[in-house]
Amino acid sequence: MRVLITGITGMAGSHLAEYCLGLDGVEVFGTYRWRSRFDNLADLQQAGRLNYVAGGGNIVDIPRLRAAVDATTLPDKVNMLVADLADASSMRRLVAAVRPDRIFHLAALSFVPGSWNAPAETFNVNVIGQVNLFEAIREAEIDPLVHVAGSSEQYGLVYEHEVPMRETNPFRPLSPYAVSKVAQELLAYQYNRSHGLKAVVTRGFNHTGPRRGEIFVTSSFAKQIAEIEAGKRPPVIEVGDLTSRRDWTDVRDTVRGYWLALEKGAPGEVYNVGSGICRSIGEMLDVLLGLTSVRVDVRQEASRMRPSDVKVLWADVGKFRAATGWEPEIPFETTLRDLLDFWRARV
Ligand code: NDP
Repeated sequence: MRVLITGITGMAGSHLAEYCLGLDGVEVFGTYRWRSRFDNLADLQQAGRLNYVAGGGNIVDIPRLRAAVDATTLPDKVNMLVADLADASSMRRLVAAVRPDRIFHLAALSFVPGSWNAPAETFNVNVIGQVNLFEAIREAEIDPLVHVAGSSEQYGLVYEHEVPMRETNPFRPLSPYAVSKVAQELLAYQYNRSHGLKAVVTRGFNHTGPRRGEIFVTSSFAKQIAEIEAGKRPPVIEVGDLTSRRDWTDVRDTVRGYWLALEKGAPGEVYNVGSGICRSIGEMLDVLLGLTSVRVDVRQEASRMRPSDVKVLWADVGKFRAATGWEPEIPFETTLRDLLDFWRARV
């Protein structure tokens, strides 16, 4: 079975790649761009498990590219191909050459605050990019299972009586990113209904763990603590709003959930994927501070506050659990310890 992961250089993509490599009979393909950073794939790179497929971005003729892909694909490695979501022709070449049985569509501009600065680009990559992927699938006349990584941010404004959030909750998105994820989900629905595309959408609640980008709150705090421990910054941690509440899952549990979403979920359906446990950002910080022996003061920084923050994200995961049997396995403290150790090794 051929599995294609878009956004394999991202946090979730890299963990999903490792998960897929551990499965029997699965050939793993992933997309990267010329300017992609490979930090998240460093472990695989060091283990010699990345294979840059011949013709990466140079062969335009699809039959030739397909032959090159078939000739150079290695079953025990991640087979890497150049593709940019915003470039329809590169997506066409990618899909036609690989002809995947399953696609995990993770690539996106994923940083919520960044989407206020670049709303048009967020739409171009997340929404038009997904149209490019879907049209490439149609053009290649293949019938893969397709996972679309939606987000809990789609719910946006939620009232206290509406939590934990079910798939039936209304969308009141509060950022350009969230609107783009709503559009991605609706496109998956429309292509399923109009063209029979076997798309399964997950609304992922926050996931974190090793390799989480430092712009995201768990990683930002963990990195600052690691820097304080190493004597590289004064013992003051800068924070934004600590009262917002989030439902965090370990990314390694999340990607196992993504696999199960295609294995056992129903095409055309949408599922919440989260832990079902809600903690404030302040509580998360307390867990992190409990993992260090240094004394740290906490200081609120106006620059870290968002224009319209989502106050609470809390998943009801009953539907996903019933469909797939998935349960998160990694305790929250272990996730944060692994994240802190990740930064300790880097600062
Ligand atoms: P990351 O930001 O870590 O990774 C994003 C990936 O998308 C990178 O591989 C990046 O590649 C790729 N990408 C961005 N733009 C393009 C483009 N134009 N063409 C091709 N690839 C592109 O995200 P995560 O791994 O955290 O998230 C994965 C998915 O899950 C995203 O869709 C995100 O929105 C969604 N999600 C994440 C949540 C979380 O808490 N992490 C919660 C809910 C949903 P490059 O290296 O080249 O920049």
